[in-house]
Parts: sequence; C-alpha cells; structure tokens
Amino acid sequence: MKSFAFPGGKKQTVLLICSVLLGIVIASFSMWALARGVSDKNIAFASAQNYPHSRSQLMEGVHNKDAANYFSDPVHTDQMMIYDHLDQAKKIKSNQQIQIPILVYHSIADNPSNPYCTNPSVFDAEMRHLKDTGYTTITFGDLESAWLQGSKLPQRPIIVSLDDGYADNYTNAFPVLQKYNQKATIFMVTGFAAQTINQMNHLDWDQLREMQNSGVIDIQSHSVHHLDMTQLSDEQLKHEVVDSKAELEKKLGKPVTIFCYPFGAYNDKVKKMLKDSGYLFAATTNEGAAAIGQGDLALDRYHVNGVVTPAMFAARFP
Ligand SMILES: [Zn+2]
Repeated sequence: MKSFAFPGGKKQTVLLICSVLLGIVIASFSMWALARGVSDKNIAFASAQNYPHSRSQLMEGVHNKDAANYFSDPVHTDQMMIYDHLDQAKKIKSNQQIQIPILVYHSIADNPSNPYCTNPSVFDAEMRHLKDTGYTTITFGDLESAWLQGSKLPQRPIIVSLDDGYADNYTNAFPVLQKYNQKATIFMVTGFAAQTINQMNHLDWDQLREMQNSGVIDIQSHSVHHLDMTQLSDEQLKHEVVDSKAELEKKLGKPVTIFCYPFGAYNDKVKKMLKDSGYLFAATTNEGAAAIGQGDLALDRYHVNGVVTPAMFAARFP
C-alpha cells in the first residue's frame, strides 16, 4: 500500500498559509493591545492583581537571586511599585475600618453652672483614665496619615478636641496633657483670639503659638466668628472658611486642614467650600465614633464637656 505524504509543493503551501494566519493573529493582538494602551506596566499590573502573595513574600522569593539584577528589569520594578501600591491600598482599607472616638471638650474650668465647663480635676482624671487603659491620643494629622496614606495607627487611638479656644485650655488643660504626654486638638475661633466674650476669655496668639510649638496641642480652625455656616452668604462663608485657615497658617507657621463646624451646622454647600479651600477633615457635633463612611467632612464626635462624670467616662471608654 502506498504511504500517504504531501508532495513537497503542498507542504510549502501549508507552511505559507500557517505563517500568514499566525501573522494575522499577531498583528490583530498588537493592534488590540495598542488600542487598549496595554504596556508592560499594565501586564505587570494585571499579573500582580492575580498574584496571591504580598510584597514581602515576593521579596523572599527573590532573596536568593541577584536582587539588583532582578530589579534592573523595568517590568520587575513596575511590579514592585504595584505591590507597594496594592500593599498601601490594603493598609488604607484596613485602617479605614477602624473607628476613632473623638472627644469634645470646651472650657476646662471650675464652673458647675455651665455644662460646657469641665472641672480641671475631672479633666485630669479622664486623661489619666485614657493613659491607664492603654488609649493613645492622636492628632488629626495622624488620622489623615492612617486613613488616607495607610500609616500604622497606635494602640487604641483616640482624639481629644477642645472647641472655641478658651484661655483656660492653656492654664488648665495644657499642663494636664503635658503631664500625661498626651495630644489634643484645639479648634480656634480666630476672631475671638485674646477677646473676652460672654465673660469667657479666649487664647491669645502667644499662647496658641506656645502650645502648637510644644507638639502636645495642634491648633485647627473653628471659623472666624463662630456663626451658623448654613445661614451665610457665599462671601461670608468664604471669609469664615478661608480667612480662619490663612490666619492660623500665617501666625502658627503650619498647615491647617481640619475644620470644626460652629454649632455643628453644615450642608453640602459648606462642605464644598471646605473641600475647595483645602480642608481634609471636618468635625461635627453628631454623637458617635468617627468613621470614614461618614465622609471626610462630617466626622462624628463624643460629647464629654462638663456633663460626663469620670465614672460615666470610664464606662463609655473602658
Ligand atoms: Zn464652638
């Protein structure tokens, strides 16, 4: 029986057809890739997304190789950058699941008839309780680093805030915070600096500067005149938001990115003005722990003031 074989000419024809088909496939893929902007980086990104390991595991994997040589390849460098981004995104996501209690105080003075005044000995007891129970007082800057950049949060983070900028914050709160090595944020009404309003003295610029420079207290904005922000004209609103920030930044020589709404009043227009003016977070008077889901510009806080006794405080923050 005659064995089956293509004659030489037919073999060449088949090879030619195969080559043409392969060429068409390659050309089509290239055009598709070009159209979609697929580069080495995209391909590396796609593979990194599917890669189950972390950056550190990848590093372990290349430990025995010549690392310098390995990362001289731009695809590998891109991949490492992507791992860094993915790791950072993971850290940010996990940090954003952590709710942060933000405490609200106003005046720290012995004035039992005023519910906004906390007795200095009560403030001392509450700060000592936080220390004894392992809370770490952080600033909004720390919160910003954790929620927006993925920096590690300390153990049991909590923010202590004091609204309005009463002079007794300097005489009665500052020494207690220094004693326990704790941090706090003062929301200053810039137009009230060194003024006596309703028989309450307010901080002057020397005191504000000294506290800011101590590293214990961070000063942020509580507007210029402490007005209901939802009732202002565009021009007034801009003045309260922009000029309070500018004055604090100029006189204290540091960025001001946190706002506290006077009377806790805000709406979308006020929030937009804050965002457009460079604020990152804003504190409300809504009761509860701050969570990223509330939105950067509407963070809840816990009222402490003068109405919460040390026993109530210890029960709420065990
Ligand atoms: Zn206020």
